[in-house]
Amino acid sequence: MKRARNFNAGPAALPEEVLVRAEKEFLNINNSGMSVMELSHRSAIFESIHNQAIQGLKDLLYIPENYEVLLLQGGASLQFSMIPMNLLPADKHADYVLTGSWSEKALKEAEKVGETKIIASSKDGSYKFIPNVNDLSIDETAAYLHITSNNTIYGTQWTDFPSTQSVPLIADMSSDILSREIDVSKFGVIYAGAQKNLGPSGVTVVIIRKDLIQPNQTNLPSMLDYSIHAKSNSLYNTPPTMAIYLLSLVMEWVKKQGGVKAIEAMNSKKANLIYAAIDESEGFYIGHAETNSRSKMNITFNLPTKAAEKLFLQQASEFGFVGLAGHRSIGGCRASIYNAVPLAHCEELAAFMKNFKNSYE
Ligand code: PMP
Repeated sequence: MKRARNFNAGPAALPEEVLVRAEKEFLNINNSGMSVMELSHRSAIFESIHNQAIQGLKDLLYIPENYEVLLLQGGASLQFSMIPMNLLPADKHADYVLTGSWSEKALKEAEKVGETKIIASSKDGSYKFIPNVNDLSIDETAAYLHITSNNTIYGTQWTDFPSTQSVPLIADMSSDILSREIDVSKFGVIYAGAQKNLGPSGVTVVIIRKDLIQPNQTNLPSMLDYSIHAKSNSLYNTPPTMAIYLLSLVMEWVKKQGGVKAIEAMNSKKANLIYAAIDESEGFYIGHAETNSRSKMNITFNLPTKAAEKLFLQQASEFGFVGLAGHRSIGGCRASIYNAVPLAHCEELAAFMKNFKNSYE
């Protein structure tokens, strides 16, 4: 069976090696005579898988000791609410930078919880760029500053992160976590739904500085309280065991690739191939993002006409490419090239783009 050339935005391509291993272990994990899905989440075998997934993230991102890694549910979308519910006290406000639809959604949920301010936005510029970090005025009285490190829909990505001093920097890294080296100590909280670079959907990773976890919050439902999850090593209730198992396998795979540094170099190579196809097309492909804000994960572009776009997507699909249509909110085309998308598929896409342009004109 030939595997699809999968450019889906999420859920997205998983490493083939991981899927093959999961298939091999599907009926019998660790000689238990059970599938991982049939194990008790309190069993020693599952606990070890769970801890391996957490340790894998700690190792790969060099997460300092003063951070907790939580495996939660509810997607990144629930974090839009949990962040302000846990970290925005009534006498403070939270700052947001708007760089796309996901930051808008994060802001919308925070507005329901407390006072918020938008300190920068690229909305008026069709979300084609990331505001310059040096232009951000950090308000020392803010409870936190929230950013979206990679904008999955518009195809823009932060390269430098703001220095926020004592204000905790919170980043939604759903679509670029583990794609590049980051200094975790610069952040108060990093969160990400797993379904792009980490594994399947169903598990959400939250990396939170321990001093930000407030114990004994009386007004919060337990499931929305970071301290409850932290106290029980993310085993307060039944976790998504299959998703966590696959997360642990993806962590092993990333280690085998040479870690995040090697993955980052490969991601640059992959992105450069497709951006070159855009830049060398003499304006046939029009990249959405400004050059210095380009995402290495989601490459967004348009063609000269809607008809050309339609034909491009149709022929791409016939060729075996999956997931190249842009997000339904903005249309156009988008190639999502997360960690598990092989270089060969990016080479094939770049070649296809060149051929399509030549045959169209
Ligand atoms: N943030 C970003 C940057 C995303 O790309 C997505 C999903 N595409 C979300 C948040 C929402 O994630 P979830 O579906 O896991 O709630």
